Amino acid sequence: MLLGRAASSIINHKPSYQGTVPAIMTLNKIPTKDRESFTEHLKHSTRILALCGAGLSASSGLPTFRGAGGIWRNHEATSLATPEAFEADPALVWQFYSYRRHMALTANPNPGHFALAELARKRSQFVTLTQNVDGLSQRASHPASQLHLLHGSLFDVRCTEFYCDYSERDNFTDPIVPALAIPKGSSQPLPSIADNTGEEASKSLAAAMQGNKASQEGKELDISDAGIPIPRISPEELPQCPKCQKGLLRPGVVWFGEALPVKTMSAVDKFVEKSDIDLMLVIGTSAMVWPAARYVEEARSRGARVAVINMDKQDGKRNLTKRDWFFHGDAGTILPDILSPVIGDISA
Ligand SMILES: [Zn+2]
Repeated sequence: MLLGRAASSIINHKPSYQGTVPAIMTLNKIPTKDRESFTEHLKHSTRILALCGAGLSASSGLPTFRGAGGIWRNHEATSLATPEAFEADPALVWQFYSYRRHMALTANPNPGHFALAELARKRSQFVTLTQNVDGLSQRASHPASQLHLLHGSLFDVRCTEFYCDYSERDNFTDPIVPALAIPKGSSQPLPSIADNTGEEASKSLAAAMQGNKASQEGKELDISDAGIPIPRISPEELPQCPKCQKGLLRPGVVWFGEALPVKTMSAVDKFVEKSDIDLMLVIGTSAMVWPAARYVEEARSRGARVAVINMDKQDGKRNLTKRDWFFHGDAGTILPDILSPVIGDISA
């Protein structure tokens, strides 16, 4: 009897929402008192600093290739993002970056990017420091003087020659050189190895014979898959420096083992040190790891209240104080919402 009762109480157990609220129930929902206190503070904030990470671009659907699990053609993405990798095989590294440039251009800025761009136009003393290299803030017309790129950009290029200072910003040409175009599928029948019946072969033969545009041109192949062959590219076919005409150009991103851009860091330091800060927004990045942690602490020491916007409750809520806000959800939904008292309705 006892066993039976215990078993039935387990079966009938329904989760109680008193106490800890399951994460999914709070996603993108802002408690009224948080909204009110944030709005009140935002309206009176003039000096604002935002620090953005991968979470800002998540709803634009971009793979970030940072951290564990970032694999491209059987290579750890982190092993391709080094000066040593570029020296050893510039063609492979350029193919990786050309793919990422292409993917980023296929994606679109989301309402989170547009909301920050609009806040920058409304508040001249608002500065965004982003760890993202995807160019989406630039494409959302975020004022350039109020946007600092901590890890550079996929769309900046610079010369690798030691004595050459050539660099170029916001080069959105895709592909950057013809040899780096994403290969397209052949319109020839390509039966799969697993196809025992010949069904796939006859389907693809039929598609090829239809002669429609798509089958003539082929579809772009997913070259992140190591099973898809990519062309061998000679160094002469890679982007060349137009200034010294000697060096190869390289992507203008900060690679592992390289220093963060001094100019960017000092511009942001100058902003932080100039005077008190009213508000710090930490968007889609852990408030715990460097450099986020450092900026959060510095902003706090200058009086800032901190608002964290993050999909990950555990990640975002660490180290927050009673004066801070935590907004649980997608930056593409939360930012236009919480900033609307200043930026208005940007969907209109
Ligand atoms: Zn050069």
